[in-house]
Amino acid sequence: MSNCLLCGSILHTFMSFGKMPVANGFLLPKQFEEEYYFNLGVAFCHRCQMVQLTELVERERMFHENYAYFSSTSTYMANHFSQLAQNVIDRYLNSPAPFVLEIGSNDGIMLQHFMNSGIRHLGVEPSSNVAQVAIGQGVETISDFFDDDLASEIARDYGQIDVILATNVMCHIPDLHSVLVGVKLLLKPKGIFIFEDPYWGDIINKNSYDQIYDEHVFYFSLASISYLIQQYDLELIDIEPQAVHGGSMRYTVAHQGEYSVSDSVTFQRENEIAMQLDQLSTYNTFKRNVEKSASELKALLYKIRSKGERVVGYGATSKSTTVINYCGITPDLVEFISDTTPIKQGKFSPGAHIPIRSHVEFEENYPDYALLFAWNHAAEIMEKEEKFRDFGGKWIFYVPNLEVRS
Ligand SMILES: [Zn+2]
Repeated sequence: MSNCLLCGSILHTFMSFGKMPVANGFLLPKQFEEEYYFNLGVAFCHRCQMVQLTELVERERMFHENYAYFSSTSTYMANHFSQLAQNVIDRYLNSPAPFVLEIGSNDGIMLQHFMNSGIRHLGVEPSSNVAQVAIGQGVETISDFFDDDLASEIARDYGQIDVILATNVMCHIPDLHSVLVGVKLLLKPKGIFIFEDPYWGDIINKNSYDQIYDEHVFYFSLASISYLIQQYDLELIDIEPQAVHGGSMRYTVAHQGEYSVSDSVTFQRENEIAMQLDQLSTYNTFKRNVEKSASELKALLYKIRSKGERVVGYGATSKSTTVINYCGITPDLVEFISDTTPIKQGKFSPGAHIPIRSHVEFEENYPDYALLFAWNHAAEIMEKEEKFRDFGGKWIFYVPNLEVRS
């Protein structure tokens, strides 16, 4: 039995995925023997409504000098960050010398827009190889984890901040209290804190259980976020659903009482009550749906392979690690995974050890089926891979339901 990371109450564990490796831990054969595993389980807190992992992987195992995720590798994400930056500039940066801070600024993909507009900015990024790319491009970056201590140093060295941004990073941080102490300290009186993370309501609705992996410690809802931030005299003033990462929510937070609260907040709170996100039965249904989805996918792969047809994975995403290992997908079922990220090519997938190969190898010898692990980029990928379809290749989708598309 474990306790809530945020409020200390006893958790209700509703799903276990068994032994899991580190999701982004692509590795070489010489590393197979020392590969690290943990129990991937997910739980619900009745008191604060936060959905969370039951066992945490030490952050140094996940975010380090060999971290394999560079935000700039996706054009779609690049556009998303460009729009968010422009939105922030237009709406919130009206003070004489505005200052923007980004927590988890990755390779500087978003901050570069502020830099190019001559706006004072600072990034905080713990993975040093990724931070180095940003610094190389002139984006001012500190390579560290953001917490209350670092926030004090920033306040002392740089002063207070107009807008703090964090995309797909808050849900990664076990000690959110420390982050919020820092945010509260750093925000100017009219300052704004905007963060985006995968939305628990979308995961439930789409049965996208592959969002559950080591890096995602928390799965946010408006209910759990509101409970958390009000302890710091902060308030949710706006929300905006986002299509990125298979369904995310953008939360806009300010000091209590400084702004009026948008109708979208009220509307989505009602939605969450209608979705019964506070009811245990919802979590039990989710578990049954996940089990069904996994057994259907595995059965389909066996059927295809029994006819001698080939399946190649498309996109060596972090998300795929949960699907591959939970469903028991082996190199016998999926020949290799095609990925355009050079740092992953020539390595093997965590746990199941499926080879990762370049996109060229996919193109040179099209398989009969491509298993779409990067389903959240489906539109972009379908457009890019018209030739595969012309060749007669079929796509296997498993979110929200198992589906073969030709
Ligand atoms: Zn709790």
